Amino acid sequence: MIIGIDDTDSIDGMCTTYLLAVLIGKLNAFGHLKDYPLLVRLNPNIKYKTRGNAALAMDIELNDRNASQKVRDLVIDIVERMAVLSEENTNPGIVFIENSTDSMKNDLSKFSMGAVRDVLEIREAMEILNRHDISHKGFKNERGLIGALAAAGFALCGLPDHTYELIAYREQKNWGSSREIDPGSVYAADAATHPDTWDTVDIENQRIVFAPHSPDPILFGIRGNSEEAVRRAFSMIKSEPVERYVVYKTNQNTDMHLIKAKIHEVKEDRSYILEGIVGKSPKTIIGGHIIFKLSENDTSIECIAFEPTKGFRRIIRELRAGDEVKVFGSVKDRTLNLEKIKIDRLNMQELRNPMCCDKRMKSMGKEQGYRCEKCGAIKQEQELETLQRKISAGFYEVPPCARRHLSKPLARFPLRQEGA
Ligand SMILES: [Zn+2]
Repeated sequence: MIIGIDDTDSIDGMCTTYLLAVLIGKLNAFGHLKDYPLLVRLNPNIKYKTRGNAALAMDIELNDRNASQKVRDLVIDIVERMAVLSEENTNPGIVFIENSTDSMKNDLSKFSMGAVRDVLEIREAMEILNRHDISHKGFKNERGLIGALAAAGFALCGLPDHTYELIAYREQKNWGSSREIDPGSVYAADAATHPDTWDTVDIENQRIVFAPHSPDPILFGIRGNSEEAVRRAFSMIKSEPVERYVVYKTNQNTDMHLIKAKIHEVKEDRSYILEGIVGKSPKTIIGGHIIFKLSENDTSIECIAFEPTKGFRRIIRELRAGDEVKVFGSVKDRTLNLEKIKIDRLNMQELRNPMCCDKRMKSMGKEQGYRCEKCGAIKQEQELETLQRKISAGFYEVPPCARRHLSKPLARFPLRQEGA
């Protein structure tokens, strides 16, 4: 039986992954998990999400098929008791898949991918649930059925790419207090397991990034390429007691949200890989964000590196008109929020006013030519000059402290095949 659950989070307490961790413990009496539980990150731009827009699923082999009603009741009961139903944006959904058909798999593989890349309606989830007679339970406005069905779909059809996250949970008496984690052990665990693990610490910004600061039950999460790697890092970390931990298989850090497209095809609230030419030199705007225009034929889009992307902005600030780049990120308000950039070719030449007497000549007006203020010499045209560039072509990413859940770190790209 596949069980999908979504949207039991609240702003200041419960987290769906903890609910699943508790549930896994209770379901031990009824059967065993056929694979890792799945932690699925859905479209990061959905405005209704509570926090990280995570949905969960697990595939349990029941010892006794007659137990299925009991298991469904148990799951519904736990969600009713643990989800913070009083919160406006908490609208849980639960889905149970017991028998699958090819046509169900067909519908679900499309639907699940849509929940990561697109903006889906509750109605679309209901249509599939009804068409295939899938047992489900929605609470309040039932929005959680979208994520629950999407996660169950991935459990049924598989993830095209995946990583692992080991999430350790706190003892309940410690929830809300500050986390006790020995920083030295965290840096040591990172040093011993990177690049098979990532986003445990942010070396450049000297920060530990694998532990949240919110009052939820999560102590920390270790992300990596294999169960072995995340377990090895876990074994090295010294901290307050861990109540329980779960190793999830996940679509985090896979770039699954990104759609390769042309600039004119871009829609709001989706995430893209776009190719184009930098318009003008980037501008720094209020708040320390940096923006530039990316153009392709007659269409263009603004790209932005927000202040929290820290040192990444040093690269963006050095872009110049004519540079050929690929950008990776989510689009909101016709602006792409940069997660990565691949600089394919730097423009090494620029048209500038001619030099004379050790100074730039002055323009005498539109199409009027250029004049030296010292000796009065006149030239008609600007001249091509070689640009001194401070950056090189290559692939650049935001630091771990600013990485979004779905964004694939460069450490996961094979060395020679550069991804996009
Ligand atoms: Zn002169």
